[in-house]
Amino acid sequence: MSVTQDSNHALPALLGGTPVRKEKIFYGRQWVTEEDVDAVAKVLTGPYLTCGPEVEKLEQKLCSMTGAKYAVAVTNCTSALHLASLTAGLEEGDELITTPLTFMASANCALYCGARPVFADIDPDTYNIDPASIEDHITERTKAVVAVDYTGQAVKLDEIRAICEKHHLILIEDAAHSIGTKYKGQPVGSIADMTCFSFHPVKTVTAGEGGAILTNNEEYYHKLKLLRSHAMESRPEFQIDGPHEGPWVYEQQMLGFNYRMTDIQAALLSSQLQKIDSFIARRKEIVKRYNKVFSAYPEIIIQKEIPESDTSRHLYILRLDLDRLNCTRREFFDAMSAENVQCQIHYVPVYWFPHYQSLGFTKGLCPNAEKVYAGIMSIPLYPRLTDEDVESVITAVTKLITYYRK
Ligand SMILES: *Cc1c(COP(=O)(O)O)cnc(C)c1O
Repeated sequence: MSVTQDSNHALPALLGGTPVRKEKIFYGRQWVTEEDVDAVAKVLTGPYLTCGPEVEKLEQKLCSMTGAKYAVAVTNCTSALHLASLTAGLEEGDELITTPLTFMASANCALYCGARPVFADIDPDTYNIDPASIEDHITERTKAVVAVDYTGQAVKLDEIRAICEKHHLILIEDAAHSIGTKYKGQPVGSIADMTCFSFHPVKTVTAGEGGAILTNNEEYYHKLKLLRSHAMESRPEFQIDGPHEGPWVYEQQMLGFNYRMTDIQAALLSSQLQKIDSFIARRKEIVKRYNKVFSAYPEIIIQKEIPESDTSRHLYILRLDLDRLNCTRREFFDAMSAENVQCQIHYVPVYWFPHYQSLGFTKGLCPNAEKVYAGIMSIPLYPRLTDEDVESVITAVTKLITYYRK
């Protein structure tokens, strides 16, 4: 039997058909331009390479963008979450409630402090942590909540803040996905007790590696700044007139770290931040296009958005209704790769990892998260995608849905 051009196109590339596009694209990618390179080059030949004026400028920019009073730039969002947890006073015997549908760093921050992460389940429609499940998991040991704005959508901040106030918990927002998002018109970064951003290349804007903690609380701010740099302090009152004292004197006030961001990274990020509005606008445009096409396919479940969130979208989650398809998620994922659209899964439930299993966590803990995990993959979403790229992703998805539908 001869294969026509058309049937060859309808046949998944995984099974010998023609891929919808020639070069591979990935689910996410940074966009660094000449201006960014120039901003970095200027710092490299200047007097400060680390934690100098560029970091201060960046921190001011993050405050003016978000309306937060204070910002502390650090090496990455993992260290931001660590310092936020320490600043919240988390220690051995304490518990921190978070979501399992996240990058492991959202829970590891509890372990770094000797505390125990506790997983609340997600809302099956938005995939964000369910406030009712947070409340169900509160014990007398609970000290903090790490709420993750999954894919960039703000969590139900009013509900979660009310729960935290009622139970005297500190709310840390893991906003690695959500810089630029607004909740009821208010920018993420100015709402939770502490908000942590990530500037990893795959996130909305990048510093190469980078993170920041934003807060309105002056006491937290001073502690965060101390912890970032060995808890080293130098103040005139230290310089008493003994034979071993003098203007060189500094003191270590507690156990701190070197989590300083470099001026090189800060310059890159400040330059990137000048373009954030256009980056976000393009992301929103692509999400709108995907949603418009995919909502006509009953095999695809669209992530719901709460009206309170004006979402700067980091990830687009393609969720399959596997009951309607003659394939597994794995087959669909591999078939997308063969079409040259490289997806990724965000995320394996954190407590499934061997380290968490060794701490006594078992599968089945959060049924909603596990159910969502089973059907999802992240398809390409980043501002540099051309319209043709976007259409090729859509073609790949709809081709495979059509082929595998029951
Ligand atoms: C990326 C990410 C982190 C960690 O960010 P790094 O800057 O890579 O340390 C934390 N939480 C979430 C939800 C993330 O996506």
